[in-house]
Amino acid sequence: MQTKEISGLAIQVRGIVQGVGFRPFVYQLAKKNGLTGWVRNSSNGVEIEIHGENQSNIAFLDELTKSPPPLSRIDRITHTTCQPDHYTQFSIIESESDPDQFIPVSPDISTCSDCLAEMSEPTNRRYQYPFINCTNCGPRFTIIKDIPYDRPFTTMTDFPMCPDCQHEYDDPLDRRFHAQPTACPICGPSLTYIFAGNIIHGDKDAMAAAREALRNGHIVAVKGLGGFHLACDALNHSAVDELRRRKKRIEKPFALMIRDSSIIEKYCLVSGSEKQLLESRQRPIVLLTRRDDCTLPESLAPGQKTLGFMLPYTPLHYLLLENEPDFPEVFVMTSGNISEEPIAYLDHDAQVRLSPLADGFLTHNRDIHVRVDDSVMRVAGQTAVFIRRSRGFAPDPILLPFDVPSILSVGAELKNHFTLTRDAYAFHSHYIGDLENYETLQSFEEGIIHFENLFRVKPEIIVCDLHPDYLSTRYAMERSRSENLPLVQVQHHHAHLAACLVENSWESDDPVIGLTFDGTGLGTDGTIWGGEVLVGGYTTFNRRFHLNEFLLPGGDRAVHYPARTALALLAQYGIEWDHSLPPVKFFAEKEIEIIHAQIKKKINSPATTSMGRLFDAVASLLGVRQQVNYEGQAAIEMENLCDPNENGMYPFSLSADMIETSETFHKIMTDIKTNISKPIIAAKFHNSIVQMCIQISEVIQLETGLNTVALSGGVWQNMFIYSRTVEKLMKKGFQVLVHKKIPTNDACISLGQSIVAARIRQ
Ligand code: ZN
Ligand code: ZN
Ligand code: FE
Repeated sequence: MQTKEISGLAIQVRGIVQGVGFRPFVYQLAKKNGLTGWVRNSSNGVEIEIHGENQSNIAFLDELTKSPPPLSRIDRITHTTCQPDHYTQFSIIESESDPDQFIPVSPDISTCSDCLAEMSEPTNRRYQYPFINCTNCGPRFTIIKDIPYDRPFTTMTDFPMCPDCQHEYDDPLDRRFHAQPTACPICGPSLTYIFAGNIIHGDKDAMAAAREALRNGHIVAVKGLGGFHLACDALNHSAVDELRRRKKRIEKPFALMIRDSSIIEKYCLVSGSEKQLLESRQRPIVLLTRRDDCTLPESLAPGQKTLGFMLPYTPLHYLLLENEPDFPEVFVMTSGNISEEPIAYLDHDAQVRLSPLADGFLTHNRDIHVRVDDSVMRVAGQTAVFIRRSRGFAPDPILLPFDVPSILSVGAELKNHFTLTRDAYAFHSHYIGDLENYETLQSFEEGIIHFENLFRVKPEIIVCDLHPDYLSTRYAMERSRSENLPLVQVQHHHAHLAACLVENSWESDDPVIGLTFDGTGLGTDGTIWGGEVLVGGYTTFNRRFHLNEFLLPGGDRAVHYPARTALALLAQYGIEWDHSLPPVKFFAEKEIEIIHAQIKKKINSPATTSMGRLFDAVASLLGVRQQVNYEGQAAIEMENLCDPNENGMYPFSLSADMIETSETFHKIMTDIKTNISKPIIAAKFHNSIVQMCIQISEVIQLETGLNTVALSGGVWQNMFIYSRTVEKLMKKGFQVLVHKKIPTNDACISLGQSIVAARIRQ
């Protein structure tokens, strides 16, 4: 008899490989190929040793690489041969841990189809159980307190497993093998419904009471994965209006949740890629174009052409939205907060803060450890782009094209996210919010400490913006001082450019053309920048062109009142403040005089080159909006107005280093005076910005030979400008870099800050 030759392989896998069913998968794969050996979690991934015939080893490695478990993400897989050993079987062995190592933590994942099937099977022991989950789905990031990812380090530690759950948990062939949040009605969390001083305990009764309240048009606070939502019947006009009144959320759109994607088509247009995005396991809110015959109240998203829809992503949501005759099919699911505060995620805090907003609370006793907002995305062309990257994605790291030191970057003031880096990973935080109040600042500080602990990052460098008054800058300065760490300050638009480059795996320090257009960012000259054309890379930049400067009369007030900026631009270009013009009409005579004096004497009227404010001014002149209730509102509404078939444009001129818009404004005024329709004027203005981007890129190409254009900044959320600019630049042969992994708005600032600091300190 011929003896078969046995060889051994030691395999190391890095990436998201813990808490995602990786070891059972390896176990079964080894059995299938008749291999012996072991698999274990290590502090930085998974380690495997296999022993078998050479061919079987190769087959094992091949399948492991090509079709790993659905929730895993392999970043790196290495293997070396090892001495053949005589194991008699393949087994899953104890974890080995090293306090300095880290492994990525999985984001929260929507309920899988296996769990949904069990949940609707009356004989299953988890029939209609609102906390059903398995190795392929359920809460992760929001319940993890520390690593390694084991039950005692999650908020599930309060729920000892019953014998049945323990048995599944211990069985390598069970789909709940080592599923840390696993539970059942016997041993796991349960629901309560609280209203007007009454408490209803028990999953079934609490759920029934919450559904009854929603059916009757009440507002219910619902505890989700990363915080509380406020829910009501979206087709009930008075419920929606009441919610808006209580939330003090003037005109900001409400997100919607709907049972299944096919019903959305009654209200919105849904393309194939949008449907795919809606149904993806991350379950983001997806912005969809409203149908003309949409019966949903206009007040859900006033002035918008889009509605933000998401599908249920926890078993609780599925039960809450379950189909029944006469039961609402679409719900508002907006964040549980008043106005700009962070969403409530702790029960006691929610009871206090949301009591004036909600008629009842559908809550449960599984704690949320980290507050995480819903992610928001849209499809541009065929690609999915982020508007907010949070639940379902955070804390998935962004892979960098090179290794960097351990750095903490604190990001921007608005739409704050911080970033921690180590090795070739950037841990870009969940959405923190606008750092304008104590609650958000607290959540920012707690988030940083949590991330440092979770990913074992000890920052060696602290990075912040140039703006001395940002709360994030103060935090960074304080930490740098108290821990004696170097502080690096990075200009806002340089950070935008660097973020876009690194996201596109740009490795070198070679410069590109950066079209960084947004609302605000402090410049190196102390003025407010925002219409910046940079030529630069990671380490340096040259401000090659910028919009001509104009004044913001009243400073911050001009941000809230686009009419103020419009008046400043008219004055600057010698255009009379005609009383028929919307911004002039908007103010009382007295106010007009004050604004006039502010501009003339430059009192409290900082200079800016902001593209965002330029859009505000045009929107004001067109009568779109004289006052905004949230950032970017005027520009969004003007974009919605554009006639997509209009190809005309306004002129502008380029001087040595300036984009002059004087002529642009004079021509816009001529069109307004001759009663050209607003959709035409809006489209012509947008087309001129597109044309300007092309022309500028060509000028710089001629000067420098550069052929790559990077787009970053909130202005690129404007789909009209974004899609046309990208298309035209590509037609001209430019390589165009855009944000795909994180938003183009200020959410990307912290990532850019890290990379700039890493490269200049090399
Ligand atoms: Zn599942
Ligand atoms: Zn159990
Ligand atoms: Fe910005």
